Amino acid sequence: MGHVKGLICKECKKEYAKEPIHVCEFCFGPLEVNYDYEAIKKVVTKQSIESGPPSMWRYEALLPLDEAPKVGLHTGFTPLVRAKNLGKALGLSHLYLKNDSVNHPTFSFKDRVVSVAISKAMEFGFDTVSCASTGNLANSVAAQAAEAGLKSCIFIPDGLEAGKILGTLVYGAQLISVKGSYDDVNRLCSEIGVNHNWAFVNINIRPYYGDGSKSYGYEIAEQLGWKTPDNVVVPVAGSSLITKIWKAFHEFEMLGLVDKVQTKIFAAQATGCSPVTTAIKNGSENIIPVKPNTIAKSIAIGNPADGYYGIKTANASGGYGEDISDEEIVSAMKLLAETEGVFTETAGGVTVGVTQKLVQQGRIKPDEVTVICITGNGLKTQEALAGCFSAPAVIEAKIDSFEEIFSKLFLFHLIEFFHEL
Ligand SMILES: *Cc1c(COP(=O)(O)O)cnc(C)c1O
Ligand SMILES: [Zn+2]
Repeated sequence: MGHVKGLICKECKKEYAKEPIHVCEFCFGPLEVNYDYEAIKKVVTKQSIESGPPSMWRYEALLPLDEAPKVGLHTGFTPLVRAKNLGKALGLSHLYLKNDSVNHPTFSFKDRVVSVAISKAMEFGFDTVSCASTGNLANSVAAQAAEAGLKSCIFIPDGLEAGKILGTLVYGAQLISVKGSYDDVNRLCSEIGVNHNWAFVNINIRPYYGDGSKSYGYEIAEQLGWKTPDNVVVPVAGSSLITKIWKAFHEFEMLGLVDKVQTKIFAAQATGCSPVTTAIKNGSENIIPVKPNTIAKSIAIGNPADGYYGIKTANASGGYGEDISDEEIVSAMKLLAETEGVFTETAGGVTVGVTQKLVQQGRIKPDEVTVICITGNGLKTQEALAGCFSAPAVIEAKIDSFEEIFSKLFLFHLIEFFHEL
């Protein structure tokens, strides 16, 4: 069970009761969960965690629920993959992928935040859950609301990928496509919340939702053998994940589970929507909102809720921020698939491509332990690879047909081979 005293303003430190609220009424700062770390210190050890379930709920004492989780019991504890082939291609000898493209139940890192948010919404007694989503959050809220037996009403910007839309509708959710960008959808949801008493997982439930992201950081440290890495390259949308990985590592340090944290946190965005990395590169602490224009739609937030803290995290850790073009995203998605057999969505292309750039800049060194965050599944963003591959060869179900095409293919490979020489 969690050890939550209440909520606390991140800026002025005013304390609040556990309620579905997210903004300080005095200074308008964001509210966060206020944990009783003294109580946590008494119960959390490496052994207590290791004897827990193979899911994010092995860290239940560090997550913001008062009762046992009600949905997403199998979410998290995704593989930390040693990426030797990709490492060779990028010039990194200790490269890992934290692979949430196989997260349960909807194949993205969002399953973590939604497991917490919907469980919390049920503790509060809501009967309807909602969200403003760039796609993956919609999938996860729809799926886990179905599991919970709650109604869901989900808002997305128009123009999302077919896989993200079908991957929401299939669970019986009410899905509404709003003309505009994610930022328009988010503003609309805040207005809807005034008239409808719903749990908006990333708005009024945001303090609890955000802490679901901590489990991604805990797992990286535990799976590295209770060590934090030298570098983590994180995809940034609203900046929840990047700030919570940092928070997770420092909580583990405070609990004595890892040595002093010296991890550099790198923010990764698409150039077509890069308010956070642009600010970092300009040495600015403030976000200048942008209008998103990129194939990396899942991380296309032009005015990120926690953007200010995302910038601070990268800077405080000694990391940096970089962004890459849509063409570079596609190349990186292919590189990851060809080297490691991992098919990620556009956001994973962003982190792989940005890592490549950071290595070239000398900001990530060849023998450092580096973790690339892979946060979503490529089957959901197939549009990104449209036109990249020719259709498969079609043959009759006859051995002659095969041998004929095989000799042609073989000849083709031979020509390619001499070409490369
Ligand atoms: C939402 C999302 C992120 C990052 O989200 P934050 O709002 O920055 O926490 C990263 N990758 C994918 C695939 C996502 O859907
Ligand atoms: Zn405040």
